Amino acid sequence: MIEIKQNHSLKEQNNFRFDHKAEFFCEVHSVEESHEFIDYCLNKNIPIKLLGDGTNIVLTRDIEGGVLKVSIPGRNINRNEVNLGAGENWNEVVLWSLENQLFGLENLSLIPGSVGAAPVQNIGAYGEEISSKLVSLEALNIKTNELILMTNKECKFSYRESIFKKKDDLMITSIKLKLSKEPKVNTSYKSLKNFLIKDDINPNRATPYQVCRAVTSIRNQILPDFKVEPNVGSFFKNLILDEKTFNKLKKKNVDLPNFKNPKDLTYKVPVAFLIENAGWKGKKQGNVRVSEKHALVLIADKGSNSEQLIKLSSVIAKDIYEKTQVELEVEPKIF
Ligand SMILES: Cc1cc2nc3c(=O)[nH]c(=O)nc-3n(C[C@H](O)[C@H](O)[C@H](O)COP(=O)(O)OP(=O)(O)OC[C@H]3O[C@@H](n4cnc5c(N)ncnc54)[C@H](O)[C@@H]3O)c2cc1C
Repeated sequence: MIEIKQNHSLKEQNNFRFDHKAEFFCEVHSVEESHEFIDYCLNKNIPIKLLGDGTNIVLTRDIEGGVLKVSIPGRNINRNEVNLGAGENWNEVVLWSLENQLFGLENLSLIPGSVGAAPVQNIGAYGEEISSKLVSLEALNIKTNELILMTNKECKFSYRESIFKKKDDLMITSIKLKLSKEPKVNTSYKSLKNFLIKDDINPNRATPYQVCRAVTSIRNQILPDFKVEPNVGSFFKNLILDEKTFNKLKKKNVDLPNFKNPKDLTYKVPVAFLIENAGWKGKKQGNVRVSEKHALVLIADKGSNSEQLIKLSSVIAKDIYEKTQVELEVEPKIF
């Protein structure tokens, strides 16, 4: 039996702690409970918004209709494949996979949020993305209440993108990942490699456990703690540029850091560099500010609201456009 709360405050359900309400809120712990709440909303003819741990959303208003918080548990191992419920915590799953001698997720250590949201933006860090490990997933169509199986290809993954960002009528209920029993690691990402070398670890011989520890330490050093300084991680996506656009930008910024993708000849450019170069790092407007630790992270201090935050992000994007002619894209979901 599901519990539906009316006019429920979402303050505890979003990293920025903005105090907006859900008209109908329900936390589901199984596919059956999900069916039940979806039926309830379909019968009332009201829309549904999906919520994981709320680490990558910006609430700008009260939500009319239903808010379904996905808390479906489940961790199963079948040889080198794992089946995970969408409500599991991502970082706990990474640590659990390592405890079970299943490797491949170590570069994605300490990314906040739930398993179910991980494919939505194809979470990635330190040279790896979840899309390279995902075999398939199960999802409920919240418009028809049908459970479907989707292959990796059908998810249409790309950099911080998937079909789930474009079509928000699919609720992921579980995912299947293929991991490795071989302790092979990817330490090619520059800052990870340098960290290991500084720690007297040969990057070519590092173990997955050492990579997990290194990634965790780097993240703790460079990112503000969202529980102390409310933030959603990167507020803007990094840029993926074709050669012509990249060369134009490089002319204006000779030190522009970049990662060339040999497969499609595109260049990934860290937006933090552009924001910092434009003088925004540490800048404050009212009760919102750009982190002093990381220029891509916007922080909403006590007394702030979503209007102030959206205004700051727009002013930054406009300034970067005027200086570089590139358009920034917001990474979190704006509700
Ligand atoms: C400090 C910090 C660092 C971060 N670092 C990284 C990083 O290195 N790399 C990276 O990729 N991300 C990073 N993020 C972003 C965030 O961790 C991921 O986007 C994460 O997957 C969000 O999970 P969540 O459960 O909190 O999702 P939510 O914030 O609850 O939701 C995010 C989106 O997913 C949808 N959604 C949630 N659950 C489901 C579901 N079961 N089915 C379908 N749609 C769903 C929501 O509707 C919403 O559109 C960081 C965030 C923070 C705060």
